[in-house]
Amino acid sequence: MPLNLERLSLERRRPAAFTLVELLVVVSIIAVLIGLLLPAVQASRAAARRTQCASNLRQVGLAMGQFCNAHRGQFPDTSHNQAGDVEQSWIYTIAPFMESVDAIRICPDDLKAADRLDQKLTSYVMNAYLTDEPRSFAVTNHNKLRESSKTLVAFEIADQKAPIIENDHVHNHAWFTSLTVARKQVLQKIEADAAIERHAGSSHFLYADWHVGPTPAVTVAEWADTQTPTDNFCIPK
Ligand SMILES: [Zn+2]
Ligand SMILES: [Zn+2]
Repeated sequence: MPLNLERLSLERRRPAAFTLVELLVVVSIIAVLIGLLLPAVQASRAAARRTQCASNLRQVGLAMGQFCNAHRGQFPDTSHNQAGDVEQSWIYTIAPFMESVDAIRICPDDLKAADRLDQKLTSYVMNAYLTDEPRSFAVTNHNKLRESSKTLVAFEIADQKAPIIENDHVHNHAWFTSLTVARKQVLQKIEADAAIERHAGSSHFLYADWHVGPTPAVTVAEWADTQTPTDNFCIPK
């Protein structure tokens, strides 16, 4: 009889202890699986944000193309050359030519996305050579471009740029001056205005034939490495 009791208690104890070990094994397997899957999940989310950004700029391009057609080729004004105190970003000037400006004006990887969304601004910056007049090398009419596929229209704003209307364009001519070229400071100037590494070491550039070029930061560094200020890749072609 006492033997039977001992067996009984062993049988009662054994399954409980076994389940605990099993649980720990399962928990650690799940932990390992999560550890393996997390980078993949994060990478696919980053890829989705990158795709969203490229799609945004493509829609910006389509709208701007229609705006130019409706205005005899003229590019939209930026905050720089608007007369009076009515200040709106160029993105709102072309807004009537798109379905929803709010859906496409912000890059999901812009650190100031919420602020720029709030302030009626955009994550995309217009090339001032297409809007600021008078300026040497400026071409403010789409019809006057000879190589629209090589003419830069917009790029991604640097995270550190304040969410203010003045930053709806930047003075790209200031990137390449005699001084910045001589001192090899061009890339530094570009990076102060443009987020050239935003999407895994790349960023998006919109061209005047309305294609979007995903461009690695190393390529921008090559563009920055010039001998003369007039070798500025932002000068319309
Ligand atoms: Zn300006
Ligand atoms: Zn982006």
